[in-house]
Amino acid sequence: MTRFWDTLQLFRPGWGDMVEILLVSALLYRVLLLIHRTRAMQMLLGVLLLGSIYLVAQLIGFQLIERILQTLFQIGAIAALVIFQPELRSALARLGQSRMLRPFTRLEESQVVDELVEAVDRLARSKIGAILAIEREVSLDEYAEAASPVEARVSAEMLHTIFTPYSPLHDGAVLIAGGQIRSAGAILPLTQFPPQDRSLGTRHRAALGLSEETDAVVIVVSEETSRVSVAQAGRLERDVGGDRLREILSVDEARPPALFGRVGG
Ligand code: ATP
Ligand code: MG
Repeated sequence: MTRFWDTLQLFRPGWGDMVEILLVSALLYRVLLLIHRTRAMQMLLGVLLLGSIYLVAQLIGFQLIERILQTLFQIGAIAALVIFQPELRSALARLGQSRMLRPFTRLEESQVVDELVEAVDRLARSKIGAILAIEREVSLDEYAEAASPVEARVSAEMLHTIFTPYSPLHDGAVLIAGGQIRSAGAILPLTQFPPQDRSLGTRHRAALGLSEETDAVVIVVSEETSRVSVAQAGRLERDVGGDRLREILSVDEARPPALFGRVGG
């Protein structure tokens, strides 16, 4: 009888357990938000499916399937570390983010933001298509490798020049890092998700693709419609005006939603 009561005790959560459950739920929610609509989310669904098959195989007693899946999970754990190295790096970097580590000062940053906003406005008014990727925590070096190196201060004139049709560098994306134009003509990965809007072409899909794989902010100026869109964390915010663009670019650690927020619903 006492053992029965001991067992029941397990099911009577104290307030400590409640706090723990709340904390873990909040953490899980953050993690899900981070990987929502990314490659990681697709993989997670795959892993869950395999996990359920494993459980069913175990229940029925299908030992071969059980063994195969066991081995797969062991190899998969290591493979996941390799595949998600960029995501893991960005997640850890976000955890350890501090004002001290910022690559450039507030004043320089505000100048870069001014130039970017001006450039985007000019490009849109001239109906020049453009795609600009701004590096955050995750390095964009891997996309810069096949691109043309440019080491230039971010200026509206320079960006306008690069994207002018028939200029040798106008095709592909400009990569901006540490307040500098690092390269032009970069090919970005296309998103694998079908876009909500079928009229979106490869330029917009490339912006979404990069934002799924890295924490970069990707600005797109449409050459067909002059509309400005911003891709962040796998979301595309359409019709971004100058003020909104300034807000997105003026990253402030005190307001993490601007940095990680799922803009555009
Ligand atoms: P727009 O509204 O400006 O027409 P879109 O989304 O309809 O854009 P496309 O018309 O297909 O896209 O745009 C083609 C241009 O987008 C190319 O000329 C090239 O400069 C750029 N682009 C296409 N694919 C990529 C890519 N993977 N990475 C970087 N830039 C790309
Ligand atoms: Mg097009």
